[in-house]
Amino acid sequence: MADHSATTPCRAPRYIREFRCIGPDCEMPCCGGFDINLDARDYAVLQDFTRRDPGDRRLFSAGVERLSGEGEPPARLRLDERGMCHFYEDEGWCRVHRRHGERALPRNCAHYPRVIHRHPATTEVSGALSCPEVVRRSLLVEGGNRLEPARAEELIFDLERGHHTGRSAYARYLIPVRAALADAIPTEGHGLAEGLFTAAYLAARLAPFYHADCSEPEPMLGNILERRHDPAVAETLRHRLAIAEEDHRGLLLAQAALLLVRDQAPESPLGTIIAASWEAMAAAGEPVTERGLEGEALTTVLRERRARVRQGLDERLDTWLARWCHNTLFREPFTTLPDPFRAVQLMALRLTGLRLLVHLDPILLAAAEAGDEEAVAARFTILVARFARQVDHNNDFLYLLYQAAEAEGLMNLDATPGLVRT
Ligand code: SF4
Repeated sequence: MADHSATTPCRAPRYIREFRCIGPDCEMPCCGGFDINLDARDYAVLQDFTRRDPGDRRLFSAGVERLSGEGEPPARLRLDERGMCHFYEDEGWCRVHRRHGERALPRNCAHYPRVIHRHPATTEVSGALSCPEVVRRSLLVEGGNRLEPARAEELIFDLERGHHTGRSAYARYLIPVRAALADAIPTEGHGLAEGLFTAAYLAARLAPFYHADCSEPEPMLGNILERRHDPAVAETLRHRLAIAEEDHRGLLLAQAALLLVRDQAPESPLGTIIAASWEAMAAAGEPVTERGLEGEALTTVLRERRARVRQGLDERLDTWLARWCHNTLFREPFTTLPDPFRAVQLMALRLTGLRLLVHLDPILLAAAEAGDEEAVAARFTILVARFARQVDHNNDFLYLLYQAAEAEGLMNLDATPGLVRT
């Protein structure tokens, strides 16, 4: 196979260029809680590096499981009684990495949290928000998402790795369309709802002729994307957003998704956070049932919480969430979905789930009301990373959410105000 990285330019957001694993200082190390599969090469390399030392050999025997079932990978890493990889040392570092360096690691470990996409003319590297250090550098730091040229060799251990976006007409225009959608979402001030609505509007206008099966979408593409600069369109969208009737469907679906995590994984880190939030609402006298709050009550609670959080945070929370949208748009090619509108709508629905998690969290609320900026940032970081690990970067879960959104009729611009206004 051709060495794609050596022959095409590479670019990456600043946060991933500057990323360094913080090891012992990490509040949720990635050496636990994930299923790490090994291919035949990973297995052989790890076995070879660990065969000389008795301690390494013992850990290899205990911590690496051979698999032989149909469709299974050749091997995977087992977790120990701590719920961590056997090679994870209590001091907070990976023993294999510490003793033998990155080249001895299984490639899934060596690349995490980097995400690699190969477009026809460029390779892009970004970072998974399941790593709290990525959350900090991407969402909390101004300019963290700024794209910069990079050398692939600095960022990617295995130059063959990465997801190819393909050469279809849909994939060819991914980068300019994505740039316009991101450009519609401001990262300063209180314009997040309007920005998301504008991005959804642009994507909805594009979708009839720019989609997975399209042939040549030009010249309509440029005309529509330019509409985001038209003051008359902006005014119409602002008005449409302001007068849209209350629609709780998206919020209720986001709540159902969070409560599904609580019910299916009650002991998991995210499950316990969700349970505590809904219990706190019940303790405060809200009419919470097993299925959570009814639509109107949920909307009211969320708006009231947002106002309280904002008193302590000004517009910073919206800025962080807008950066989350930019991170998501860059990290996940929308071409994995049938059209860009469905991608923006699904992103807005996921953001609704994240907003519920963040605004209803009693720990974040208490920190915001106490004006403790450091504690708010720390809690926000944990919530985003936990949400990413169990929901937001979980393709099976996202597929379920997508199907539910289709069934609820949410893949429709009329449903967007209900997702972005709360
Ligand atoms: S989650 Fe990120 S910072 Fe934490 S141990 Fe893993 S790579 Fe390092």
